[in-house]
Formats: sequence, C-alpha cells, structure tokens
Amino acid sequence: MTARPATARPRFIDPFQPAEVRRLVRQFGSPLLILDCERVRVQYRKLQRALPGVALYYALKPLPHPAMVQAIIGEGGNLDLATSGEVQLVQRLGVDPQRCIHTHPIKRPEDIANALKFGVRTFVADNPDELLKFARLTDRVELLLRVSFRAAGAVCDLSRKFGCDPEDLLPLARRAADAGLTVRGLSFHAGSQTPDAMKHVEAVQECIKLIAAARREKLGVFDTLDIGGGFPIDYAQKVQDIGRFCAPLRAALAKVPRRIRIIAEPGRYIAGPAMIGVASVMGRARREGHWWYYLDDGLYGSYSGRLFDHAHYPVEPLRDSPERFSAVLAGPTCDSIDVIAENIMLPLLRNGDLLVGRAMGAYTWASATEFNFFPKATIVAVNLVPGDPGSVLG
Ligand SMILES: *Cc1c(COP(=O)(O)O)cnc(C)c1O
Repeated sequence: MTARPATARPRFIDPFQPAEVRRLVRQFGSPLLILDCERVRVQYRKLQRALPGVALYYALKPLPHPAMVQAIIGEGGNLDLATSGEVQLVQRLGVDPQRCIHTHPIKRPEDIANALKFGVRTFVADNPDELLKFARLTDRVELLLRVSFRAAGAVCDLSRKFGCDPEDLLPLARRAADAGLTVRGLSFHAGSQTPDAMKHVEAVQECIKLIAAARREKLGVFDTLDIGGGFPIDYAQKVQDIGRFCAPLRAALAKVPRRIRIIAEPGRYIAGPAMIGVASVMGRARREGHWWYYLDDGLYGSYSGRLFDHAHYPVEPLRDSPERFSAVLAGPTCDSIDVIAENIMLPLLRNGDLLVGRAMGAYTWASATEFNFFPKATIVAVNLVPGDPGSVLG
C-alpha cells in the first residue's frame, strides 16, 4: 500500500458539491438527505465561540440521528433529551448519562422511569402537578423550573405551551422545597428561529431576579440557568451572523452571578445547516403555462418543515442553464397541498434530474410522514470522523 501525501487528502469532503451529491445518490438512492458531520462540528464550535462559558446541550428533537449524537459527544458537548425514544437512542450509543438532561416539562411516569434507569438526574417541571410525579424520587432527581416568556416575534413561540408565568415561579419553587425536591435552577425557551436575541436578554434579566429571590428564601440550590435554544439560521431569508446575534445575550449573561452555571439547548442552529435534501424529478407536465415537476420528496416527507416549522428552504436543481421557465415543484403524494414551491424560474428539467434543498437538517426528516406509502428519505451521514473523509453511515 502506498501512502498518499497528506496534502493530497482533503481534511474532509464537501459533500454538497454537485459531483459528490450525484455520487451519493447513485450509491444510496433518492430521495436522500446528506448529513455532513463536519458541518455539525463547525456549527457547534461557532455557537460555542459566540457563547463562551455556556455549556451546550444539543436538543435531539430537530434531528434525532446517531451521527448527530456522536458528533456532539466528539466535540465534548452534552445532550438535551425529551422523550423515551431519545433516551433509548443515546443509551444505545453508550453516551454517559451525566452528559444528558431531560427537558420535557410534561412527562408520563414511564418517561421519567426510563430516563432515571438510564442515569439522567436533571429534569424540568413547570407546574405543581408535575412536581408530584417526583414526590418519591427526591433523592434521585434535581429539577429545573421552566419559566414562560412569550415570544411574539419568533417563528415558533415555545413559551405558549410550556413554562410557568414569572409571577408563579416563587410559589412553584416553594412547593418544590416543601416536597423536599432539589431545584437546581431555571430554564426557558425564547422561541425558535428568533429574529434577534432581545427575548433571550429579557428572559435572562428576569431569571437573574427570580433566582436571587428564590435564593433569599432558600428555596433550593439555584446554581443553574438554562437559556434554551432558538438560535436562528439562514433559510431563503438570511439572518444575523451568530456572533452578532449573541452579542446582547453575552452582555446580559455577564451580569449573571458567577456561581451560576449557564447552559443552553441549541437544536436548529447545530443541525439545520448540516444537511441537504436531494430529490429527483419523477414526472413533469405543463399546466396553465407552468412546468410542474413532481419530485420523489415533498411536503409530507423531508419538506414537512414547510408546514410545521414555517421554513423556506432554498431549492435549486443541479442542472443549470441560462434559459428559465416558470415552474412548480410538487411532492409525490396524490394530495394537492403537496407543493414545495410555486412561481419559481427554473431551467427545463427532465425526469431523473436532481434538486437540492439547503438548510434541511432541522425539523425536516424528524417530522416527515410516510403518507401515501412514500417512505421517508434515507439519511446518509458523511465525514463521520474528523479527518476521515471516507466515513459514511448509510
Ligand atoms: C425544541 C427545543 C429546543 C431546541 O430549540 P431550537 O430552536 O431548535 O434551538 C431546545 N429545548 C427545548 C426544551 C425544546 O423543546
């Protein structure tokens, strides 16, 4: 075996180059989702640089895939779990449970039992009923109390469904203390894909006051502040760079007393940009002056986030040509709402042509269905191991 010179081998393959996309589709079929673990690592590091001193817990929900978990663990990161399925996934991968927290505010008893059995200790509660579920577990669990700060500007307001009102926090903390439960601190989620960090800032400022008040009353340890997720990424619409987005948040966090450990639960920011979707044209027709292209992936599949997550993924064909025609991109199912994009100008496409959707890592595959028996797209993870461009998990 002849050793190739080190310089001849790229540090990692850019899996999103057209030739590489075609090669992977030949190997793994279509529709395909290509997850670049190197990009996962890059996103993790960028967020860590933007939030120095904050411990990052990747929330599995947007993309619960083994390669994501391994990339995060490889970076020294932690995990935010919310369901028994997510617990099973990380358990199967041999993750140290001390690196995991469980953050679903409303749990079935078996969800708590499964997480405990795995070895998770930190749970979230936001109401008196939920505290009762831990009544016999006081020596085995620590709680974060989730506070709600409504985020009218966020694309997804995650403080409507969960979290107690700030004015209800102290009464809740008193109940927890009376029940003998250990409260480690507070958590919030400022809403996903927030346009700026003002909601995070407001929530941090409010939490500083609440933690101080709870400590004065000796209602628990209160040495942790969990600032949740919400960090935005570029879709068809661009957002602020993460360093700039986090600048006001860093200023707010600088005012948090030093004894309080700060953690975050990023999901979208880490997973979103790391995956592209590749679909094939399976048929075409000219209708009312537009070219309709029927793809083998659509709104009920990897593009489910168009509906559930309100995301506009930039979609382009691999084929390029200066001549463009008004086109509609439709999904494969027999339902008429299954349309990904309308009134877009595209080159004339043929059956078998590939289309690439960008920023499709978060809330895509995770919420895809198999409606009409169209199977979910295959995920292929590449650049699994840092410095090993050949590593592929099909
Ligand atoms: C969904 C969710 C996250 C991740 O949010 P992003 O906006 O994707 O960063 C984090 N924490 C909790 C509790 C969640 O439900």
